[in-house]
Amino acid sequence: MWETFWLLLPVAAASGYWVGRGQARKRTVKARPGLHQDYFRGLNYVLNDKPDKAIEVFIKMVEVDSDTVETHAALGNLFRRRGEVDRAIRIHQNLIARPALSREQRGDALRELGEDYMRAGLFDRAERLFLELLDLKLHTVAALRSLVAIYEQERDWGRAVEFARRLAAEGGGAVSLQVAHYHCERAESARRENDLAAMGEALKQAFAADSGCVRASILQGDMESALGNHEAAIQAYQRVAEQDQDYLTEVMEKLRDEYTRRGDVDGFRAYLKDLMNRCSGVAPMLALADLTQREEGDQAAIEFVTCCLRNKSSVAGLRRLIELKLPNVDGRARDDLSILHEMMTRLISDRPVYRCNNCGFAGKQMHWHCPSCKSWSTIKPIQGVVAS
Ligand SMILES: [Zn+2]
Repeated sequence: MWETFWLLLPVAAASGYWVGRGQARKRTVKARPGLHQDYFRGLNYVLNDKPDKAIEVFIKMVEVDSDTVETHAALGNLFRRRGEVDRAIRIHQNLIARPALSREQRGDALRELGEDYMRAGLFDRAERLFLELLDLKLHTVAALRSLVAIYEQERDWGRAVEFARRLAAEGGGAVSLQVAHYHCERAESARRENDLAAMGEALKQAFAADSGCVRASILQGDMESALGNHEAAIQAYQRVAEQDQDYLTEVMEKLRDEYTRRGDVDGFRAYLKDLMNRCSGVAPMLALADLTQREEGDQAAIEFVTCCLRNKSSVAGLRRLIELKLPNVDGRARDDLSILHEMMTRLISDRPVYRCNNCGFAGKQMHWHCPSCKSWSTIKPIQGVVAS
């Protein structure tokens, strides 16, 4: 253990120095008794920015000195962290090729090489190594986690479900939320193939995994709507308000359409009033303003929005008010309002509408799976800006 620690220190220091390349002064490290001469020769190549020669020396060393296996694994990791994946792969591949490795050493090297392949985007090769680790019963949780990431990447949702469940069984943490999304992905592909029966089956499994899955509720509403079951569609969309109010903006138009198809304007109005009493977002207010304008005219809608804005200001609400006022004024006032409306529209459209609570990724499209940090259900509509 001590020897390993001591061996790693100069490698780490060398790497730090190496990052600051450009300093031309030649550096040398003197050999110490008890360690292989080649190790210091390799280290000096690293310090003097000759990585290829250093790798040759280190690779040769593994053949003669199996005590340095861990040092090589660490060196490979340094290359990977620096983004030099090809070099990391060469070092780790060479380690695995050594017949004298212990079972644990082989497991460590397989895991590192698997991560190199992941970084290089060589998912089929990475998959083989992580499956081998499962057979060896080494690094099981890490291997399962990587396999789940690979199947997500390959959109192989069936296997993603299977390995996520195994991950949870091995103590790798809760997976119910992501498993529900995998079933939602299956439901979406069934919808693309017009197989509504398969879609319904996948949604059942999504709810079984996570009864609070907003995405499954929205998809169920879409499915019922496609089947002409407007009452059931309304119920599914309404469930979103109970599951997570932040996503209400995603179902507001869908709800309006379903109520309209049923010819139940009063029902929609009552539902929106109820939502306004218990929800913090502006989406129900904006929907009710639209409904009021359609049913009772501009003046009633203006009064309604003004009253709401007195209680709670919002950019989207203010823009809606100006929009309602525009057709009802003339001359200079109309020009001024037009400019104001244009400025507010730009203000709203220049800002991202969705943001990931985990990594801060922002964009104008809704993603259930963050394209940046790969988390599920962390991207949400930004209140007050969306639903304009
Ligand atoms: Zn993210």
